[in-house]
Amino acid sequence: MKNIYLDNAATTPLRPEVIHTMVDVLQHDYGNPSSTHSFGRSSKSILETSRKTIAKHLNCSAQEIIFTANATEGTNWILREMVKNNGIKKIITSKIEHHATLYTVLNLQKEFGFDVEYINVLPNGNLDLFDFERKLNDEIPTLVTLMHVNNEIGTVLDLNRVAGICKKYNAIFHCDTVQSIGKIKIDLQETQLDFLVASAHKFHGPKGIGFAFIRKNRIMQPMFFGGEQEKGLRAGTEAIHQIAGMSKAFDLANEHLVEETKYITELKNYCVSQLQANFDGIIINGENTFYNILNVLLPFSEEKTAMILFNLDMKGIAVSRGSACQSGSVKPSHVLAEFLSEENIKKPSLRISFSHYNTKEEIDIFIESLKTI
Ligand code: PLP
Repeated sequence: MKNIYLDNAATTPLRPEVIHTMVDVLQHDYGNPSSTHSFGRSSKSILETSRKTIAKHLNCSAQEIIFTANATEGTNWILREMVKNNGIKKIITSKIEHHATLYTVLNLQKEFGFDVEYINVLPNGNLDLFDFERKLNDEIPTLVTLMHVNNEIGTVLDLNRVAGICKKYNAIFHCDTVQSIGKIKIDLQETQLDFLVASAHKFHGPKGIGFAFIRKNRIMQPMFFGGEQEKGLRAGTEAIHQIAGMSKAFDLANEHLVEETKYITELKNYCVSQLQANFDGIIINGENTFYNILNVLLPFSEEKTAMILFNLDMKGIAVSRGSACQSGSVKPSHVLAEFLSEENIKKPSLRISFSHYNTKEEIDIFIESLKTI
């Protein structure tokens, strides 16, 4: 049985070149980058070269990149910092954000007691940007936190438009780019957001490492206290192998961006056409969705919901739930709950997410397996 991995929005397999880079660093570059001897200098050089590589692809300066453990850490740090030390009195976000944002906002609200407003979600899963603009004004210091690509349905935020609206009202814009970075070009001179966060494991890099972009006029207090690492903002000896792996993964993602985008787009289109040809009444959740994420509502009975993932898993096929009862859990997806009808939210939805490692043959096997359920 061949295992088929169609859950690339959850995490991605490492590219072989990334593994090679990491093993090489683990074997040879074990010096502490804070040490002044040659071992330390070698590690320091990897650290700073990695930072420059990432900055080059984003068209920002290397000093604006801070390494973190992941995107969740970056979001927690930035949002806390903005409400604690930067006078933010209101946060505008949406109910379809990742929990890394939603729960951070809710917990900070409990602690600091500011206003939170949620942008309306349209029936097609996109945000109502007119409603967004109505929620802004010049008088209240505001932070806007919105994701670029939604991890469950793949809807895409118009970053330049949102950044432009934020500028108009002097609002700070924090963007969770976890699902888009390395999969679409982001130019930080063109897109005037203030903060972004990323996790390497979503672009074929290692887990446990990510970065935050902090625009240079933004003043931040340390996330942790201790050593001088990361300009004193995130103390603790740097994970050089992770950072080198992330930088390699980001470099390769950008190098292959055009051909991989084309390949994955065709794969998704093929999957959509095969699903439509084989399942009458299938519905795609969300409109104008990103090229590697497909969320579909299956024309199956409610009772089959729990069985589907289990059955696919038994056949070695990994996809993700799109809605409703995951084995044992009765919680519906908080994203789909925002825009699907009461009736549809109970039906089984699946999230299928692709990478350049997937093939049409895998899609065929997936469809055939789904037909047997
Ligand atoms: N934001 C989005 C959109 C995600 O998809 C994820 C992970 O699934 C995260 C944030 C959190 O990423 P991490 O767990 O790597 O911090």
